[in-house]
Amino acid sequence: MNLTLDKQVALVTGASSGLGYACAEALAEAGAWVVINYHSHGEPAEALAAKIRDNGGRAIAVGADVSQEHDVERLFEAAVNAFGAVDVLVANSGLQKDAATAEMTLQDWNTVINVNLTGQFLCARAALRQFQRQGPRPWLSRAHGKIIHMSSVHQLIPWAGHANYAASKGGIDLLMRSIAQEVGEQRIRVNAVAPGAIATAINAENTQGEAGKQLLELIPYGRIGEARDVANAVLWLASDLSDYVHGTTLFIDGGMSLYPGFRGNG
Ligand code: NAD
Repeated sequence: MNLTLDKQVALVTGASSGLGYACAEALAEAGAWVVINYHSHGEPAEALAAKIRDNGGRAIAVGADVSQEHDVERLFEAAVNAFGAVDVLVANSGLQKDAATAEMTLQDWNTVINVNLTGQFLCARAALRQFQRQGPRPWLSRAHGKIIHMSSVHQLIPWAGHANYAASKGGIDLLMRSIAQEVGEQRIRVNAVAPGAIATAINAENTQGEAGKQLLELIPYGRIGEARDVANAVLWLASDLSDYVHGTTLFIDGGMSLYPGFRGNG
């Protein structure tokens, strides 16, 4: 069986940069019709949509703030108006507002939880409603819809100075597994990917130069990840090649979650 997403509609949030951009591009290469959501930077999303269309694919860019209920509903409406359905959601949007917990403002706590966790809930809920409305599309996929949450190794590894972010990603683990338990009998597949250190804008300070070298100490496989490493895993989870994978988090981290500090006997 080939990895094809031919004519499946894939909606990717936060896809004007980084992992979301790479996922949207890879999904389009696999034949999906792509809805490229952006928050504040429309230009790269519009440019990616144009590039996909130039290559013979189908894509639109839609601005929406995933932490706002009305925006998320409008985003899904735009997807259905353009392409008639939604088959795959990649709930990717996320941000960091780092501070020692004693210094962290309530605003920074709320912003991270609202985008990283509530945003994923709102998008997953909208996707489930759409999957239920449209029903099975067996000529395209065995599953009746697929949701892929973007988590992080920090759903597992505590992260000093980033309590809001780690809490949001820890929340995604149980959000994802609870939804998966709930909707499996509807043949809707729900999974997550948990990247380690992937070089993107979110962590540019930590992945380059001296900081990048130190980071390698935490990665047994010995290299910093590339956005395409995550996109490849997302592609597989979106395709029927993973049809029996449900309620799982796939770590894409070069082994970062293997507690490499214990390599020298702890
Ligand atoms: P990024 O900053 O390039 O991408 C984040 C995207 O989310 C941006 O496009 C941004 O516009 C979007 N976004 C932010 N607030 C939004 C909102 N309110 N509504 C809609 N979109 C919004 O960084 P990235 O590394 O590509 O991060 C993507 C996801 O991957 C995030 O969820 C992040 O937590 C996760 N992640 C990244 C890494 C890494 O090493 N890069 C590791 C683990 C997890």
